[in-house]
Amino acid sequence: MSRFGFLGLGIMGRAMAANLVKAGHEVTVWNRTPNRCAPLAELGAKVAGTPRDVVEACDITFAMLADPQAAQEVCFGDDGVLEGMSPGKGYVDMSTVDAETSRQIAEAVTEARGRFLEAPVSGTKKPAEDGTLIILCAGDKGLFDEAGPGLSCMGKKILYLGEVGQGARMKLVVNMIMGGMMAVFCEGLALGEKGGLDPATILEVLDAGALSNPMFRGKGALMLKKDYAPNFPLKHMQKDLRLAVSLGDELAQPLHSAAAANESFKAARRSGLADQDFCALYDWIRKDS
Ligand code: NAP
Repeated sequence: MSRFGFLGLGIMGRAMAANLVKAGHEVTVWNRTPNRCAPLAELGAKVAGTPRDVVEACDITFAMLADPQAAQEVCFGDDGVLEGMSPGKGYVDMSTVDAETSRQIAEAVTEARGRFLEAPVSGTKKPAEDGTLIILCAGDKGLFDEAGPGLSCMGKKILYLGEVGQGARMKLVVNMIMGGMMAVFCEGLALGEKGGLDPATILEVLDAGALSNPMFRGKGALMLKKDYAPNFPLKHMQKDLRLAVSLGDELAQPLHSAAAANESFKAARRSGLADQDFCALYDWIRKDS
């Protein structure tokens, strides 16, 4: 049985690492803010002082970090992943980053004769807790197979998409669609409200027809209660839109709607909503746009 490591115990990482421990795996964790390791230690995980210590102690190390900058710092920084890397070890980065960041990390890990898999996820806090994420893997196929017993504790659907970068791209496409849907959903509710419609009735009408979907249903109910407790922080949604728009630039693909959604999320982020759930965009759209 592999010894698993886990770096990054935020909203997603703590639930994903907990599922590895609960499934009986030997797990060593690290988080930049050390006290976030305590609940994992209580479940039975070992706690290490640096990413390097985790990688040294484990066969396969998973990471779930905020953004490209965090992924790079944890990999390339002092006492980072690369310093613990040695031949045959595996590094599986599950953070949502751009393909270029993923490729840089893959190249460095491979140069150190380690193996790399990118594995960003679709699904939020509850699917992370339930082990029902959709995991979008790309990179070393042998590592994909070996990491299977760990990945299957975290996800219900695990795809292998080919070379490094394709998992990152799939994730950005999916979240770009989600961010765009959320932006126009918020605008529709705000428009209806200004026009004298009851927002609860708008939700009821949407849910009865072809536009019914779990996001409108789940987030819509929370938005009407102004419950913006973060499951998926707004700052991360804006980061994903920014990275998707940048991919559009790179590939000369026009993204008019996604670029507009990015501007809305950017303004909402600046207005103090960065750490609220991404559906808090509604608050900004109702007040400011
Ligand atoms: P989060 O709660 O904000 O957690 C971010 C994690 O990254 C924390 O462990 C944080 O450490 C760490 N971190 C941030 N900057 C760092 C740095 N410079 N060096 C080292 N560690 C750093 O975010 P999350 O919701 O778990 O999301 C994690 C990733 O999954 C993101 O890429 C996000 O886009 C993606 N994602 C999220 C969801 C969701 O619904 N939440 C769904 C799918 C994908 P500290 O504790 O020290 O701050």
